[in-house]
Amino acid sequence: MEVKLLKVTKGGINLVAESARVSGFSSMRSAKEIVELITDNDYSSALEHVYFTFDVSEISVALSRELLEHRIASHTARSTRYMEEKGFGYYVPKELERKGEEEARIYRDAMKNANEAYTKLRELGIAREQARYVLPLALHTHYVVTMNVRSLINFFMLRLCIRASPEIRELAMRMYKICMEEYHDIFSKIWCRGFTLGVCPENEVRPDECPFKKLVPKKREIKGKFEEQARRIIEKELKTF
Ligand SMILES: Cc1cc2nc3c(=O)[nH]c(=O)nc-3n(C[C@H](O)[C@H](O)[C@H](O)COP(=O)(O)OP(=O)(O)OC[C@H]3O[C@@H](n4cnc5c(N)ncnc54)[C@H](O)[C@@H]3O)c2cc1C
Repeated sequence: MEVKLLKVTKGGINLVAESARVSGFSSMRSAKEIVELITDNDYSSALEHVYFTFDVSEISVALSRELLEHRIASHTARSTRYMEEKGFGYYVPKELERKGEEEARIYRDAMKNANEAYTKLRELGIAREQARYVLPLALHTHYVVTMNVRSLINFFMLRLCIRASPEIRELAMRMYKICMEEYHDIFSKIWCRGFTLGVCPENEVRPDECPFKKLVPKKREIKGKFEEQARRIIEKELKTF
């Protein structure tokens, strides 16, 4: 997997602060303070003015499907209609490689068979747009992705979680490192949902490998402490209208 930064909005901290001042933030506060408040308190629309464009290559088609689930982004993909895929590169899950030689061999044979079928079809004059259906989900693909900072925060909260699939988690880590280099003041407050929100919405499905399991409380645990009382307050509030 390779992740490169193609473009980023420069001067983003001042830009976010300026837009926040238009909405009423005090001009006595510094740009850094405003951005900190916006990130902490989730007044995130001002963060939408700052964009990152990434070039993401050598990722699997399986990962690209997960990436495309992030709709608040602009995606451009390598085309299997217009590009030749003979001798394609592919993703090998690290977990599978660790499992043993037999498993790795079965996997590589499947890739070899797919490549042979694709190549044979192409040699028989079959068009790329038909031959491509024999290609596997592991096939390497290439994307250019643009996201604003608000959407990136949402992406990181979901995909840096230990429950995200390993390949997209790796992508999220690589993108996160780039974002930290560009806008440390914003992204240092962000990681998975548990870290960012202070409670983990994954509740009981949080696995033992989660590094924050003992540190960050479950959402259900916290909400359970006040839910009944809060509901009575809500009912009272509703009666006033
Ligand atoms: C651990 C994990 C497991 C997952 N498992 C599955 C699965 O089994 N099946 C599956 O299909 N997906 C699964 N997903 C994908 C997940 O459901 C989301 O589709 C994906 O993470 C994109 O998140 P998003 O919608 O917040 O992002 P975006 O599409 O970028 O949206 C960002 C935000 O914009 C708002 N928004 C966007 N579109 C709408 C809309 N139409 N209406 C209202 N608000 C909108 C929402 O607030 C949303 O959070 C999984 C994700 C994770 C992290």
